[in-house]
Amino acid sequence: MSKYPHGEIEKKWQAIWAETGLFRLDIRSARPKYYCLMMFPYPSGELHVGHGRNYIIGDALARFKKMEGYELLAPMGWDAFGLPAENAAIQHDIHPAKWTRDNIAKMKRQFIDWGVVYDWTREVTSCQPEYYKWTQWLFLKLYHAGLAYRKAASVNWCPSCKTVLANEQVIDGQCERCCTPIEERYLEQWFLKITEFADKLLEELDGLKEWPERVITMQRNWIDRSFGVQMEFRIKGTDRSLQCFTTRPDTIYGATFMVVSPEHPEAARLAARSPRQKEIRRALDQFIADKRSGKARTEPSKEGLFLDAYAENPMTGEDIPIYVAPYVLMEYGTGAIMAVPAHDQRDFEFAQRYQLQIREVIRPADGSSTLPHAAYVGEGLIVNSGPFDGLDSRDAIQRVASEFEARGIGRRTVNYRLRDWLVSRQRYWGAPIPMVHCPSCGVVPVDEKDLPVLLPEVVDFRPRGDGKSPLATNEKFRTVACPKCGGPAERDTDTMDTFVDSSWYFLRYLSPHADEKPFDRELVNRWLPVDQYVGGVEHAILHLLYARFIVKFLHAQGLVGFSEPFARLFTQGMVCKDGIKMSKSKGNVVSPDTLIARLGADTMRLYILFSGPPERDIEWNDESVEGCHRFLNRVWRLFCEHNDVIGQAITGAIKYDTLSENERVLFRKTHWTIDRMLADIADNFHFNTAISAAMELSNNMTSFAETAAITPGSNAAKALRFAFDALIRLLAPMTPHFSEELWQRMGHTGSIFDERMPQADACYVTRETFDLVIQINSKIRARVCVPAGTAAEELREIALSHQRVKELLADKHPQQVIVIPNKLVNIVVR
Ligand SMILES: [Zn+2]
Ligand SMILES: [Zn+2]
Repeated sequence: MSKYPHGEIEKKWQAIWAETGLFRLDIRSARPKYYCLMMFPYPSGELHVGHGRNYIIGDALARFKKMEGYELLAPMGWDAFGLPAENAAIQHDIHPAKWTRDNIAKMKRQFIDWGVVYDWTREVTSCQPEYYKWTQWLFLKLYHAGLAYRKAASVNWCPSCKTVLANEQVIDGQCERCCTPIEERYLEQWFLKITEFADKLLEELDGLKEWPERVITMQRNWIDRSFGVQMEFRIKGTDRSLQCFTTRPDTIYGATFMVVSPEHPEAARLAARSPRQKEIRRALDQFIADKRSGKARTEPSKEGLFLDAYAENPMTGEDIPIYVAPYVLMEYGTGAIMAVPAHDQRDFEFAQRYQLQIREVIRPADGSSTLPHAAYVGEGLIVNSGPFDGLDSRDAIQRVASEFEARGIGRRTVNYRLRDWLVSRQRYWGAPIPMVHCPSCGVVPVDEKDLPVLLPEVVDFRPRGDGKSPLATNEKFRTVACPKCGGPAERDTDTMDTFVDSSWYFLRYLSPHADEKPFDRELVNRWLPVDQYVGGVEHAILHLLYARFIVKFLHAQGLVGFSEPFARLFTQGMVCKDGIKMSKSKGNVVSPDTLIARLGADTMRLYILFSGPPERDIEWNDESVEGCHRFLNRVWRLFCEHNDVIGQAITGAIKYDTLSENERVLFRKTHWTIDRMLADIADNFHFNTAISAAMELSNNMTSFAETAAITPGSNAAKALRFAFDALIRLLAPMTPHFSEELWQRMGHTGSIFDERMPQADACYVTRETFDLVIQINSKIRARVCVPAGTAAEELREIALSHQRVKELLADKHPQQVIVIPNKLVNIVVR
């Protein structure tokens, strides 16, 4: 019995696909377009099967779409700048450029081995000058639009990566890349004004119907828009006031104290007026030092200090004490809050600690208040609030806001959690920021015609930790003539966050070699939004938010004709082994090379697609891998055993009413399988259930072949070949080498991927069908498979329009047509 020779077959087809350019885009094609995009990876080195999952899902999807008749764009590139490459290069003591090149070569080899095909003529690599020239161009565009600006601020500093990070790169107070607790530093840095697009980024989420709900929710929460009131509290004994923002103006009568951030300018000013000046000053310094060393973030404290000052509650007229405490952050809101301890848990704990007044102003109608044990944060009736008593708290929000506005001490406003995107990095391996600092002109942008600002090759690229980039030590790079006045000036020596590189790469694939423009406007307008984007959920906020921002910016500039880049998003689950995510550091990786050598790439692909819904995590199971291999071998053997009949083209169509019962069952099962598999794949790529259906069909085929007399040209041979033909085409996206080989052995000359998917006939798909007997003058003339419960009128039509009936009737007009539902139609003629 011949075994499926996977090694030989896989190599053969990989070479043919490369030679014929299987996925090479025909940009002039008239077919409907399908842009299938995988998130381009960091060239991190060798991939294990866990990494392989999303590429395999993407490849199966691309092949499927091609077989549905789309003109396919399936490109691949490299997110090649950034910390991963640089850290690895430092660790291995080679230059990041070489490290990146070597890894790209390795990963390309792996894609080929897995049967994962891309249009490599469109490859983009973000660390190449012909690419990052346009990343710098994008920065200049943002700058000229007033959306790239420099600001001195407290920023997130990773002491291990020795660079600043964007807020989005800080997860639970730790560096997104290396999990080191973040410190704060005060530095002057470049920011991109993503907040300008906050409303659009939020509102246009509603249109992303084909995005996973959890990604939408994460973005919504990250932007976190809140409507509220910005209000003023006069500071007693001064002519100054404190500004604060609240979403709950309805609780104003419960504001019994105020708290400012240690960094708030009033904290130092009020301290200076206090008889305890020294003591307060010392505490402020300590709070700030703790915060900047990262302590304050990891151990949020309820500590605070009275500033010996009072503000006036503008509604009650009462004097309320002003405290300073690190739990109020300068970066959020105004750096000062009105504290309502009865209705805010943090304020409640603070009030308890310092024995401050807690005044209930909202009482739930059902008596479910959590006071006096904890703050009550829900809605209810307003109490203890003078003219607002008895109002529903939701109405009171508007009434109090109007009162503030009428008195000119507050205004309705919108607040966001989203902050501007900090893009300066004090690291070598990135696109240099195309700006110049001139002693007489200040900050001057590099001329567009002078791009790219090349990243110098030879430099001590190790991070320094003093807040300066390694590029600062490179005299030749640093010194430059000012683009404005020509005088001696210095280049900006920071590089850009690598997420700037990846914020626009999907536009570049349409014209990857154009050296006079970043992207071809006409082509991107035709091919975008991306039809299907596939990648990890870890980018839900970072990459996906930034890419949406940049596209909205380009749209606002009239440079692209769409404002959302990705119509449909799919985020695949992880591959786990022994209950934890497969990773090199956990020592639980499965090497694809060994697996492929033993069982073949198609087995690996089939297993990965079969082992669970693609959006869920899967647990690696060696036995199940073997099971997939056995399945392929069974199909292979079935073909070899019946090569003589399956390998022969079917002559003439299959006439259902001439089939035996056994043949009909297989014929119907084939239609059912086609219908089921196409629907499963179309429905969020549930390859797993599609593969089960294929396995079911193959079992039916095997038992059919064991019992039926399959002679060349017989109905049995036709039914078996029909089933085989469908099975091979349906499996092709999952097991491409295997299917190509069998397709060829069935006598076809072209690639199976130039074929269409088989189509199911609805009438045979319905599991509940019956054979309608068609009689003429009570003599059986034909049988047709129809869905059970078909209406009498329709049965009549089916019978009268049947080819054989028409022939027999010729020009005779039926005198009477008798229909017995679910059974027969008898046509009476004279
Ligand atoms: Zn780090
Ligand atoms: Zn100048």
